[in-house]
Amino acid sequence: MIINNVILDVLYENIGKYITSDVVCQRLNISRIAVWNRIKGLKKFGYNIESKRSVGYRLVEEGKNILIPYEIKRHLNTKTFGGYIEYYRLTSSTMDESKYLIEKGCQNGTIVISEEQTNGRGRGGKKWISPKGDNLYVSLIYMPENISYMNAINIMFAASIAIVEVLSDFGIENAKIKWPNDVTVNDKKIAGVLLETKSESGILSSAVIGFGINVNLESIPKEIDQAATSMKIETGENIDRTILLTNMIYYFENLISMIEEGKQSRILDIWKQYNNTLGRNVEIISDNESIKGLAKDIDDKGFLLVETKDGIKRVVTSDSLRFL
Ligand code: ATP
Repeated sequence: MIINNVILDVLYENIGKYITSDVVCQRLNISRIAVWNRIKGLKKFGYNIESKRSVGYRLVEEGKNILIPYEIKRHLNTKTFGGYIEYYRLTSSTMDESKYLIEKGCQNGTIVISEEQTNGRGRGGKKWISPKGDNLYVSLIYMPENISYMNAINIMFAASIAIVEVLSDFGIENAKIKWPNDVTVNDKKIAGVLLETKSESGILSSAVIGFGINVNLESIPKEIDQAATSMKIETGENIDRTILLTNMIYYFENLISMIEEGKQSRILDIWKQYNNTLGRNVEIISDNESIKGLAKDIDDKGFLLVETKDGIKRVVTSDSLRFL
């Protein structure tokens, strides 16, 4: 991969122009055949590279919708996230990989990404259906210096907000957040967010923010047991996942810096602006009970306040919600 990065550096430095294969060979200290094999590999990733015998290679244009660490880094405009990117074609779950990386010791802001997950997770043991097919399955590792555990919910809200904002960049203006963290379009789920945290003495030591976005999925898999959609279905367009991801992380980092600066109430305000839940009749289903009533508000801890026939009930985030 590192060899590929150097080849891409050389190609990008000369974008639009031919470079001889000798130049690439010298830069990398590898044979012509080895260069040719690497170029073939890059073409498979989707790079538009022309090759002419006895002239060399030419990167015709920037790589588009090529979701590899090199391209993600090229587009990222962040301070914390993306210093290190772990990329998988297939893994069980980016959440599991992240947990393992934290245990092993990793850099704050690490991004873990996979093209496909065999055991993608949702909240409370639910599954996130993660077929190969141009979607995003990503976990961000955040290990803040001194943030109260109480902010976990704000971090989760920040991820949903960042997704709503990035969907709007791609022409989906009516994305909304279903409490606490699903992103929907016309009540169809387009993205999910999952947060797993560790804390010590009330201070957050690590947070893994996982999210899945249905991007270029052309039809909704039967295993998804609720109304769902994708960006492709909504817009009819193929979406460049690298731009989608890097914009999303940029927005997320900006929101996280509000929390770091003690302005977390802004997150709740923005969440309220983007939600589709308040003012609607809902049913909250948890293990042992079901609550029905009007979703009135969220409190300063992000708990949902539901007006029931027995008065206001405060609902924690681990429950599941459906509209009545
Ligand atoms: P909900 O309240 O919608 O059941 P949740 O917030 O409790 O969801 P999540 O972790 O967000 O749980 O998502 C898991 C649920 O999302 C699954 O039970 C399934 O109904 C739905 N789902 C799974 N995969 C996808 C997908 N790729 N796109 C949209 N929805 C999905």
